[in-house]
Amino acid sequence: MQQNNNSDQLSKFVEICHDNNLKVTPQRVAIYSELLHLNTHPTADEIYQIVKKQYSNISFDTVNRTLLTFAQIGVVDIVEIFGGAKRFDPDVKNHHHLHCIQCGKIFDFYCREYDDLEVPNEVHKQFQVKSKRVVLRGICKDCLEKNQIKAKKNKKHGVKLEQHSTNPCKGDK
Ligand SMILES: [Zn+2]
Ligand SMILES: [Zn+2]
Repeated sequence: MQQNNNSDQLSKFVEICHDNNLKVTPQRVAIYSELLHLNTHPTADEIYQIVKKQYSNISFDTVNRTLLTFAQIGVVDIVEIFGGAKRFDPDVKNHHHLHCIQCGKIFDFYCREYDDLEVPNEVHKQFQVKSKRVVLRGICKDCLEKNQIKAKKNKKHGVKLEQHSTNPCKGDK
């Protein structure tokens, strides 16, 4: 039923990969397609179990890293995780979060406008809101710097990236 919608999303996916110099390999397409197809917010392992039937030599690590890369370039989202290790926040006042999707660190930030965000009426009808927090997901400064260093190294080692137009890095000596 959602076939058309899915193929639209798939072409958008290809477009965003190109914009981010990410090669559109059959494996990556398979991973993304399964994610679209399942439509159940699957885990990396669920995707891996399906994709490995098609690509027997693919590893869980590759699938996992691919999904994280997809999140980084903004083609997929990481759903708020409530399992795993506990995270402690020393700030109990009203504040908001910056969540690094690469290293998992959560940083605080403050914004009056966000504090004053109105809860939509539909939500009030079915849910008693106790607190509000805005979570912005992205990549922290440290990770951005690490990525840049890694990209430079890859360049040095001759890892071929498709049309590297942006990022006017200074050439190393
Ligand atoms: Zn980070
Ligand atoms: Zn916090």
